Amino acid sequence: MTETDGDGPAPRRARGPARDVVPILMYHSVGDRAPGSTRAWTHSPAVLRSHLGVVTGEGYEPLTVSEYLAARRGARPLPERAVVVTFDDGYRDFATEALGLLAAARVPVTLYVTSAYIGGHAGWRRPDARLPMLSARELAGLPADLVEVGAHGHTHVKLDTVPVEAARDEIRRSKATLEDAMGREVLTFAYPHGCHDAAVRRLVREEGFAGACAVGHALSWSGDDDYALARVIVAPDLRPRDLSAVLRGVALARAGERTPLRARAWRLRSRLRARLRTRR
Ligand SMILES: [Zn+2]
Repeated sequence: MTETDGDGPAPRRARGPARDVVPILMYHSVGDRAPGSTRAWTHSPAVLRSHLGVVTGEGYEPLTVSEYLAARRGARPLPERAVVVTFDDGYRDFATEALGLLAAARVPVTLYVTSAYIGGHAGWRRPDARLPMLSARELAGLPADLVEVGAHGHTHVKLDTVPVEAARDEIRRSKATLEDAMGREVLTFAYPHGCHDAAVRRLVREEGFAGACAVGHALSWSGDDDYALARVIVAPDLRPRDLSAVLRGVALARAGERTPLRARAWRLRSRLRARLRTRR
């Protein structure tokens, strides 16, 4: 198996229509009261509802990360307007605030849980941001047809900064702990802090995951490494019309960071245009 670090020619996959670009959205906490530094990554329920309204209202078909990976392998069709919605960390407010909205909108999601803090608090966060985490019972009770649970490391360390065996232990324990808690197989991984390198990606593959999410501030596409799927961080104040533009790949706007993201969006568009040209 070869390492794909991004720039080599993508293997040709069985594809449907021209669109092989898939937005993978990344959320964290949901709630009306966002204490301290959680404000930067907490969506109010009203904003989340409006975002889900854009996804369903504009005809996007939400896939879990496993379903997206299966479509990339050609094992199932890739919808023309596919989208993937993810939540990181495994905060308790996923069950109390987000789940009802997701069920009402019928948007299945993938939830990445940091396994060492199940039933406790987010101990890796700053003191003002140590939110309560989902318990094992709450995790086991999440509806399997709406929530795929994936692993997010055991203690949320940056895996590319620790010795290889420590990284392997983090990856292995996160999978085993979640599988024990839920009685379901855990198939995908998300890198804590988005940090990975070739060695970390190899470990995730060796530990039996089908693929992994990174953070790329870009839309995922068929040329992504299955073990470094690009995700877009969704800002808590992103307006519905800006989310709509993000989903179309025309504006990867994030509050406060418009310039670099605009440049990235331009690169994405030009890459897409080049690919569309070569396909004709
Ligand atoms: Zn995280």
